[in-house]
Amino acid sequence: MSARRDYYEVLGVARAATQDEIKKAYRGLARKYHPDVSQESEAETRFKEINEAYEVLSDPEKRSLYDRFGHAMPGGTNYGFDFGFRDPFEIFEEVFGRGFGFRTSTSRGPRRGADLRYDLHLTFEEAVFGCEHEIEVMRHEVCPECRGTGAEPGTSPIRCPECNGTGQVRRVQRSILGSFVNVATCPTCRGEGEMVSVPCSRCGGERQVYVPRRLSVTIPPGVDSGTQIRLAGEGEMGQRGGPPGNLYVVLSVEPHPIFQRRGDDIMLELQINIAQAVLGAEVTVPTLEGDETITIPAGTQGGAVIPMRSRGVPHLRKNGRGDQLVLIRVVVPTKLTREQKRLFQELGKTLDPEAVWQEKRSFMDDVLEFFGL
Ligand SMILES: [Zn+2]
Ligand SMILES: [Zn+2]
Repeated sequence: MSARRDYYEVLGVARAATQDEIKKAYRGLARKYHPDVSQESEAETRFKEINEAYEVLSDPEKRSLYDRFGHAMPGGTNYGFDFGFRDPFEIFEEVFGRGFGFRTSTSRGPRRGADLRYDLHLTFEEAVFGCEHEIEVMRHEVCPECRGTGAEPGTSPIRCPECNGTGQVRRVQRSILGSFVNVATCPTCRGEGEMVSVPCSRCGGERQVYVPRRLSVTIPPGVDSGTQIRLAGEGEMGQRGGPPGNLYVVLSVEPHPIFQRRGDDIMLELQINIAQAVLGAEVTVPTLEGDETITIPAGTQGGAVIPMRSRGVPHLRKNGRGDQLVLIRVVVPTKLTREQKRLFQELGKTLDPEAVWQEKRSFMDDVLEFFGL
């Protein structure tokens, strides 16, 4: 489909239409365009379009999103839900009842619930050391009021008037070979023999509700951007006794102002002065767990890397952790006092004045070499 038609236009209802009006419009159109009976051209396309419009407009949650954003819903065309549109034949079956004589949905048995995705942002430290997070997801759950029966609590089901409680209907069909009795599942009660007398006031007889659910997520130490945490069974509820889907929490980690992560190692750039580089020094550096002192050996060149073993990120779901790697940058002073300038001049007289050409190298080459790249 190229240009997507407005859902209200598809169903031919006003924007202020009630749920009853929407359902009525759907019933008429779905019957007319059902591909198994319709003589209209493009019946299949129209049928899908009608079901898609009904799926959105019959759900108050989705309808209000559609009213606000139209088809230009942020995050894609699926109304921000991570499941796509449902099987149109399944919706049809739900509204009209099973065994209507038309094609039925592709899967009539138990169906697993859809998976959900939740994007969670973590600070650098939360990702390194792990944490607990409370999140809230919107999902369909079994209606707690009627416990999924669809009937108002306290009311009892009535015997189905169409099949008299047998769950089956018999129709006499005539053909050139004579007449025979066709036994089919009762469309009114879907073969259950009983029907809800008073629909549940909470879910309107839908047996499920769309509700926010707070969940606690345990983030193990060592996660990084892109890591997925699977919460088994916390996705959408299954249909017809099927198991629920999973919830996937997808992580993204904020950068740190001074530390940079490289896998499970942490890089820190450290500036030292020229005397410290020449003579060596004890220097205090930050780590994720507080300040520590490292030794700069005498004669340290700019570009040297001093490893601090096991001060990096814990390996995810494994023992041990990475290192902190301190990259040394030697700062050449640009503003000298008179005394300092004199000292450098004295020093200069003792050093070899010959400039030496070297193979083309850079600070980055040193870093890459350190990592064996
Ligand atoms: Zn209910
Ligand atoms: Zn029945």
